[in-house]
Amino acid sequence: MTTRMNRIQDPLSLAEAAKQRLIGSAMRRRISGYTLAAGLVFAAFVIRLALSHSLGVNAPFLFFLPTVVIAAAVGGFSPGLLAALLGFVGGMVFVPLYDGVDFAEGVNVAAYWGICVLLAWFGQRLHSAQERAKTRADELAAREANLRSILETVPDAMVIAGEHGVIESFSRTAEQLFGYAAEEVVGRSVSILMPSVVRGEHDSYIQRYLATGRRHVIGKGKTVTAERKDGSIFPIELVVGEVASGDMRFFTGFIRDLTERRKDEARMQELQAELVHVSRLSAMGEMASSLAHEVNQPLSAIVNYLSGARRLLSDPSMKNLPLIETAFKDAADQALRAGDIIRRLRQFVSRGKVVHQGDSLSEIVGDAVGLVLVGSHGQNVALRIDPLADRVVCDRIQVQQVLVNLMRNAIEAMQGSDRKELAVASTPAQRDMVEVSVSDTGPGLPEDVAQRLFEPFVTSKPTGMGVGLSICRTIVESHGGRIWSEQRPEGGCVFRFTLPQESC
Ligand code: ADP
Repeated sequence: MTTRMNRIQDPLSLAEAAKQRLIGSAMRRRISGYTLAAGLVFAAFVIRLALSHSLGVNAPFLFFLPTVVIAAAVGGFSPGLLAALLGFVGGMVFVPLYDGVDFAEGVNVAAYWGICVLLAWFGQRLHSAQERAKTRADELAAREANLRSILETVPDAMVIAGEHGVIESFSRTAEQLFGYAAEEVVGRSVSILMPSVVRGEHDSYIQRYLATGRRHVIGKGKTVTAERKDGSIFPIELVVGEVASGDMRFFTGFIRDLTERRKDEARMQELQAELVHVSRLSAMGEMASSLAHEVNQPLSAIVNYLSGARRLLSDPSMKNLPLIETAFKDAADQALRAGDIIRRLRQFVSRGKVVHQGDSLSEIVGDAVGLVLVGSHGQNVALRIDPLADRVVCDRIQVQQVLVNLMRNAIEAMQGSDRKELAVASTPAQRDMVEVSVSDTGPGLPEDVAQRLFEPFVTSKPTGMGVGLSICRTIVESHGGRIWSEQRPEGGCVFRFTLPQESC
């Protein structure tokens, strides 16, 4: 198994080549059988000739009989018959024909031919048995070469271990992956490929499996860690198969390096987080003028209250004191209102770490509504948060972002509608989840968009980006929930998503 195959070969062409090789070698053996028959008969003739003095006319054919069986065994029935024929011709040289063929000679010839046919048949059987054994050996060799070429070229590393976890074979990809040469590891325990902390456990796994027959890893893919020769530890996906050969059992491990995949996943997560953040910034950018206006209102009010108070202070009589106090209190309330808007805004656009923690849905929804309703006068939102579905585990800002996206879409959709009813509700859902819904009375989802709603860049708006809902899905799924939409029978649509409920 450890032999190297340098060229990548197509398994089909390999099989065809092996078949051609088998046919070629059968032909060669037949031709060499004829040549052998002639050679052996010649040798037998020479020996018989040499013994002519002692034997006289006796046993003219005897020396040719072994040539028949040898030629048939090597080349098959036809070379055997050729040897018989040539032997007959050679043997006739020693038969005295000058006084005609007597009965005994006739019996001799008949016996010769009878024995020859029998010997040729027997040799042929030997030959066939040999052929079959050779063919089987060649086929096995071809199959092993095929298997080897496939195994050496599959992208996964492969390690075969015996019943006691001793490595029997170590593929080339495994050599590259672990940094060991096959010769270094064959004959050692597979546990050397595992981090030292789990090495002890591994042997007990095998023993337990052999004793109980209960499978833990066999037949299933599992993500585990492995250790390279240089001691570095890396993540792998391991699939173990089992092969029984006679009373021996082997374990075949297919190993895929997950290092790159993990890096890619981490990079994807970074990019997603960046996109989620950028989309929040962009949403706020779009709302910037409304926000400026919203902050301006309390500021103007503060200015008015303070100017009034100053005027009242120019006549600091006792009767003005309660008025001045009220003006200061109102100014302070307005300052708090402006501060509240700024706080929500700052939190919303911050690039804080994503933290999943227990939180109150009504507070999250309240803040999101506060942001969305800035500037959209005349729009009311009905909030129906079930107290049994209030505590959730989530990243507050990200869930606000989902709500802001859904509510802004709803408000935009209802712009041309007579009824403008936006509602945010929550109810307990199955499997310890909370279902949040955002419903509107707009025209409902455009048909062409509905099928691909959560895919990026799907939009029906002339200036829309079409990323809002895809970001909502990313956020909801990263919380272990799901998001979907439904058309409402009475008109408009409802978006629903689930979040994990905080356990009491
Ligand atoms: P964008 O708002 O930039 O178009 P979204 O991903 O947020 O991107 O929305 C994609 C599309 O889904 C919208 O263009 C719109 O056609 C449709 N859509 C989303 N919410 C609603 C809604 N409440 N009512 C009707 N259509 C909606």
